[in-house]
Amino acid sequence: MSAENQGFNTRAVHAGQAFEPRTGAVVPPVHFSSTYAQDGIGGLRDGYEYGRGTNPTRDALQEQLAALEGGSHAYSFSSGLAAEDSLIRALTRPGDHIVLGNDAYGGTYRLINSVLGDWGIGNTPVDMADLDAVRKAVAANKTRFVWVETPSNPLMKITDIEALAAIAHDAGALLVVDNTFASPYLQTPLALGADVVVHSTTKYIGGHSDVVGGAIVVNDAELAEKIGFVQFAVGAVSGPMDAFLTTRGLKTLGVRMDRHSDNGQAVAEWLLERPEVEAVLYPGLPSHPGHELAKKQMKKFGGMVSVQFKGGEAAARTVAENTSVFTLAESLGGIESLMNYPSEMTHASVKGTELAVPVNLIRLSCGIEDVEDLIADLERAFTFLK
Ligand SMILES: *Cc1c(COP(=O)(O)O)cnc(C)c1O
Repeated sequence: MSAENQGFNTRAVHAGQAFEPRTGAVVPPVHFSSTYAQDGIGGLRDGYEYGRGTNPTRDALQEQLAALEGGSHAYSFSSGLAAEDSLIRALTRPGDHIVLGNDAYGGTYRLINSVLGDWGIGNTPVDMADLDAVRKAVAANKTRFVWVETPSNPLMKITDIEALAAIAHDAGALLVVDNTFASPYLQTPLALGADVVVHSTTKYIGGHSDVVGGAIVVNDAELAEKIGFVQFAVGAVSGPMDAFLTTRGLKTLGVRMDRHSDNGQAVAEWLLERPEVEAVLYPGLPSHPGHELAKKQMKKFGGMVSVQFKGGEAAARTVAENTSVFTLAESLGGIESLMNYPSEMTHASVKGTELAVPVNLIRLSCGIEDVEDLIADLERAFTFLK
């Protein structure tokens, strides 16, 4: 049976994970060696030469990532932003332009605007749900990338990946999808026409809040060669232990995402009934403007829920600081529930820009705990609002 015909969870457990031939060790060993003995000058064993270029543990993760995103090649990096930086340096040149969502992850915007801007890469933030605005922004510049997060962080906007791919391709640009929030279990952008998928594997893919990493996945040999060259030449690779932890997390992605999605849905529905709440941003709610589209391009709706309070900034801060099962911390996608106040935490870097996040908003990353305990925790925090 070829791997392409296997189900997601079978690929997650087995892709790149064949047992070690000498001992039969079911879990492939972690290779820490930074270099490889040569059989005579240039006599490499299986192409292994030096750890920045290739490492068997990293290769195994890359094979697993490619199999799950439906790509031909994957590249693993030391962080999500390192992956993004390498992607941009591999495929753009000074004078090129990036059209990105006006609610992009703050760190992505900071990288593109404040770092790569000085190296001649332009950018235009637009509302990705407004396809005419995207088309205009793409046409007005020498656009190389259309860059989208769907669901977006933290406003949970849903964007039509197929439609964006058509807009990008008509203009000779590439569509890059940051698939961090959905993960390949819920959404596979390459199958919808995207050219490049990027991840912060720190989040759902690693899944246990114990490793920072990033990845790029493509389904095109020419793009792959350019990205692989920058990965090697710049060297922001994931180390062996990081790659191992990421692989271990990725094996259980499907079962975790099912639970995250169930918990996210239940928490969103509970919040919707609360009088203190102004809006619940969750694509699994029929009232969400992207609900029908999300149903079409996602398998489920995930564990991320944003909520806005009638009591404004003070109410959001009060709830954020009074939970105990939800831990107040940046990041998301781990098995433990996290609470985030984006305007001062994850998105502080875009404060005062058009990407600024409403001050009455908190973002919940619903973990895999018992949902009754998550709701009881929120209910207790809400008592502080009186
Ligand atoms: C966290 C995050 C990133 C950045 O990844 P790091 O691993 O923190 O460098 C990029 N995009 C999204 C959507 C994220 O949540």
